[in-house]
Amino acid sequence: MKKIPRQPMPKQPPEERIKNFNEVALGYTEELAVKEAERCLQCPRPFCVDGCPVKVKIPEFIKLVKERKFSEAAKKIKEDNVLPAICGRVCPQEEQCEKKCVLGIKGEPVAIGRLERFVADWEAEHGEIEKPEMPEKKGIKVAVVGSGPAGLTCAGDLAKMGYDVTIFEALHKPGGVLIYGIPEFRLPKHIVEREVDYLRLLGVEIKVDVVVGKSITLYELFDMGYKAIFLGLGAGLPKFLGIPGENLLGIYSANEFLTRTNLMKAYLFPEYDTPIKVGKRVAVIGGGNVAMDAVRSALRHGAEEAHIIYRRSRAEMPARLEEIENAEEEGVIFNFLVNPKRFIGDENGWVKGIELVKMELGEPDESGRRRPVPIPGSEFIFEVDTVVIAIGQTANPVLLDVTPEIKRNRWGYIEADYETGKTSMKGVFAGGDIVTGEATVIEAMGFGRRAAKAIDEYLRTGKW
Ligand code: FAD
Ligand code: SF4
Repeated sequence: MKKIPRQPMPKQPPEERIKNFNEVALGYTEELAVKEAERCLQCPRPFCVDGCPVKVKIPEFIKLVKERKFSEAAKKIKEDNVLPAICGRVCPQEEQCEKKCVLGIKGEPVAIGRLERFVADWEAEHGEIEKPEMPEKKGIKVAVVGSGPAGLTCAGDLAKMGYDVTIFEALHKPGGVLIYGIPEFRLPKHIVEREVDYLRLLGVEIKVDVVVGKSITLYELFDMGYKAIFLGLGAGLPKFLGIPGENLLGIYSANEFLTRTNLMKAYLFPEYDTPIKVGKRVAVIGGGNVAMDAVRSALRHGAEEAHIIYRRSRAEMPARLEEIENAEEEGVIFNFLVNPKRFIGDENGWVKGIELVKMELGEPDESGRRRPVPIPGSEFIFEVDTVVIAIGQTANPVLLDVTPEIKRNRWGYIEADYETGKTSMKGVFAGGDIVTGEATVIEAMGFGRRAAKAIDEYLRTGKW
């Protein structure tokens, strides 16, 4: 029998997509999805499932796609994953389920992520999102702080067990990084809103504009009758380089740049009242997914040249290969083995240049990647109109500073048990980036899921 090749996903052409914020990848048609599903071998021992942190029943949903039972396929995925349209778009499948797929040993793995996305979108387009059968309400209140993937998953699972769940979110919109960080062209916001609405359908209440630790404390939440609390606070505090000139005008943290772009919809200015000014030449410092999102957003905001400044080489870049390739196709200019030493401003305090030093790669460091070492005397000036610093985020201490019972590690993240999410404070669980540091959507969801199970056990047995 002739082998079916992995089905490519249709995309907007690069020259068109850099002029808009619409989604780059266009998704499978029914025909492409069924053809791709036919490639799955229906392994009796499906290794792909081992690679999925929330253990989606992959061969089972793919079989339903092959049989054109798309609605049933969506229900099958949702037994384990309440955010399939999001995961189908942003999960690094090449490192997870698809990495373990047996077809990948000699050829190309089944495009599990693309199929997941297709099924979730098909369900939404056909107006068939149904509420699953719900158990009787237990009359027990649980609070979830933070509405990123960790909090949303934990809330969804607890609601499905019959708990009364309330999410408290600091921003005016729920979704965490999914709503304020990842750009529209990778993850349209109506999709996040649709999946958040599904949680509302499950009975989850969402209170926005509440900064827990400032507007209300964890002690007060317990006093209000919440019997357990899950903290999914994320790692939203931007890191800076700590070099001269960093507070010049025109230098953004990636967090601010992307929040203005996505949450405040700067790309729709003046329809929305947050402007963003990028000028002709933008430099984004960093080599991860956040840097790719920022530099590709800069192009779409009208930059004539959008540069990546990275201190290692392409091989060490932590960003997903797919995102690096998308950026390359769109004309992003990559400057490897260079590192900023200082920023230079004009007479009005706006950034106009970066002093860069050339680097070479030395021995591997603790991360296993070769350490970049400056080459003395190789400094030069790189002219810019705007700089975005995308070198990582860390834990926001607002809530933790007023809750000393919760132990933190030396990097400021919460010390929580991997299997249960239990923290050092009775009744308080945590998961996602606030425990692991910056990780992935699906890892945060896995944490939320394990914590929901542990919260249920704690509330049923009273054992801590
Ligand atoms: P978050 O998503 O950070 O959500 C935490 C929420 O808690 C926020 O809404 C915050 O406002 C709220 N909060 C914090 N403190 C309080 C408080 N005191 N009171 C009330 N609310 C509070 N991962 C991928 O898998 N694929 C990708 O393609 C990808 N791209 C990314 C792009 C960007 C720009 C960024 C920044 C990250 C990206 N990630 C990606 C990483 C991924 O988004 C995170 O690992 C994930 O969102 C972590 O989920 P979380 O629920 O722990 O936290
Ligand atoms: Fe299908 Fe690959 Fe999973 Fe086997 S490992 S069941 S081929 S997706």
